Amino acid sequence: MSIDANHQESASVHEAEDAQVASFRAELLAWLASELTDEVIMAGRKPVEDGDNLAVLRAWNATLADAGWAAPAWPKEFGGRDASIGQQLAWREEMTAARAPGVVNMIGVANIGPAIMTVGTQAQKDRYLAPMLRGDKIWSQGMSEPDAGSDLASLRTRAELRGDTFIINGQKTWNSLGQYADHCQLYVRTDPGAPKHKGISCLLIDMKTPGIEARPLRTMTGDYPFAEVFFTDVEVPAESLLGTLNEGWRVAMTTLSFERAGVAQFHLGLSNRLEQLLVDAEGRDTLDDPVLRDRIVKIYIEIACMRYSTTRELEAIGLGRQPSVVMGSAAKLMWAGADQDLAELAIDVLGLEALSGPWAKNLSASQSTSIAGGTTQINRNILAEHGLGLPR
Ligand SMILES: Cc1cc2nc3c(=O)[nH]c(=O)nc-3n(C[C@H](O)[C@H](O)[C@H](O)COP(=O)(O)OP(=O)(O)OC[C@H]3O[C@@H](n4cnc5c(N)ncnc54)[C@H](O)[C@@H]3O)c2cc1C
Repeated sequence: MSIDANHQESASVHEAEDAQVASFRAELLAWLASELTDEVIMAGRKPVEDGDNLAVLRAWNATLADAGWAAPAWPKEFGGRDASIGQQLAWREEMTAARAPGVVNMIGVANIGPAIMTVGTQAQKDRYLAPMLRGDKIWSQGMSEPDAGSDLASLRTRAELRGDTFIINGQKTWNSLGQYADHCQLYVRTDPGAPKHKGISCLLIDMKTPGIEARPLRTMTGDYPFAEVFFTDVEVPAESLLGTLNEGWRVAMTTLSFERAGVAQFHLGLSNRLEQLLVDAEGRDTLDDPVLRDRIVKIYIEIACMRYSTTRELEAIGLGRQPSVVMGSAAKLMWAGADQDLAELAIDVLGLEALSGPWAKNLSASQSTSIAGGTTQINRNILAEHGLGLPR
């Protein structure tokens, strides 16, 4: 085939894709216009434990799922839409622009669900996926322990297989939604004699099993977004095992998220917040201060950089290239820095009165962005070793 013919073919593939993304976007926009209410938008801004907020968010989650909009990236057979990367990106953009909350089980849908789809048994898929997607059952992820966070492979919570039962003893911490959870994807040590990355297994457990105690943890924002969870002689059936015995590290590391466009949520969320800050700051003298104006522009540029690098990466994946191993770390690192800069900037622009409202809460909450989902130092290590090829 000639170069011209190749170009023509690729141009027509792009046009067909663009048309599919445009019709997907139009369908979503029409649906949001008829279904999204102010009550739901407000619920998305408040902590889950506020009054009946969790109930409102779960009802919205079910509405999303029943219309196929809860996780468009999931395969159709499990309630998704097999959305292309362009469609996933459009979904993220429009949901963020409309300020529509997503699913309650964020970690579940992005991570635990795909793990079950990839290595779970048919019985596990049938039992867990649909209620997870609708938010009918709430999931937490039990990885971190008091002495195992960044170094997750040091985890000590023990599960001993006796006959057809695992007996679990130990403690997890920082389990998001842990106090509300119906189920937990729990990482446990099943072979204490093996090297630390081996001998770990992954279990899918019912949080109502006797011997489990979830104690809510309060953060500096005053909210209770997560729990520490204690396990004392907890007995769960052997079929709770996800994947192969002692291969839990592989489940944790190789779980392929179907939701590649998730990285776009970083710049989209920041963009919304910067816009809100400029609205709240309207008419203030501080907007004429050259130093503050510089800081506003710096964050604007950082958000634009995130948008371009995310789009470039997602387009490359869409064209069939391998995803970059450092993409997630780079995006997370840029986001954590910009998020904290923006939180501080907001107080400087809005003045002392902002220290008692939503911007004050945002300032406290932003401290967690450089810890959750992999700390800034760990992400720098990943970039140094896997991106720049520096020694460990
Ligand atoms: C909002 C939020 C939600 C969370 N949700 C969950 C959840 O649902 N489930 C769950 O299991 N966990 C959850 N976590 C826990 C999170 O995964 C851990 O906090 C994180 O992995 C860091 O572990 P750590 O807190 O034990 O800190 P540590 O690993 O003890 O790190 C302490 C400090 O040392 C630095 N450090 C550690 N190792 C290195 C190194 N090799 N090189 C350089 N610096 C290093 C770290 O960067 C950090 O600054 C959540 C945390 C937050 C903040």
